[in-house]
Amino acid sequence: MSEPRHHRHKDSKIRSFFREFSFEFIVVGLFGLGVFLLMEKMSIKSYIAKFFVTIVNGIIKFVSSLFEIVTDYLTQIETSDIVGILLICASFILVYLRIRFRIIQRNAYLPECPSCGGDLRRIHRHPKYKILGFLLMARYKQFSCKKCEFEGIRIGVHTK
Ligand SMILES: [Zn+2]
Repeated sequence: MSEPRHHRHKDSKIRSFFREFSFEFIVVGLFGLGVFLLMEKMSIKSYIAKFFVTIVNGIIKFVSSLFEIVTDYLTQIETSDIVGILLICASFILVYLRIRFRIIQRNAYLPECPSCGGDLRRIHRHPKYKILGFLLMARYKQFSCKKCEFEGIRIGVHTK
């Protein structure tokens, strides 16, 4: 019953949007017309042309200065900078490995249901465990208890 209603709602979405804001559209239109009539006296075309030239010039200046900054930075990189970057990367990798080890160690063991001691059966993984497994470079296996509502995971290091 809710299906066709949803469909109809989708079809008339744009129309109802315009109907709902028709007053606002009229107001904006009147405002724009008023501004246009005022601006026309002040040779609107040359103003617009100047406006666009200023914007384009600004963009060109911005891009060229950005390019200058990047090339300046690249020429100033020294060996010590490279060593620093490598050390920072190494520390990030070490932290990652530590966290990975902790998570895997904590979830590697699940022989039976921890709440009732029943046998476990393997079930389809929740999609989030696929992502987590990818991030951890490990394989999640999800289980549910045969007797109660318990669901849990086990993490294996081997990817297959
Ligand atoms: Zn159980």
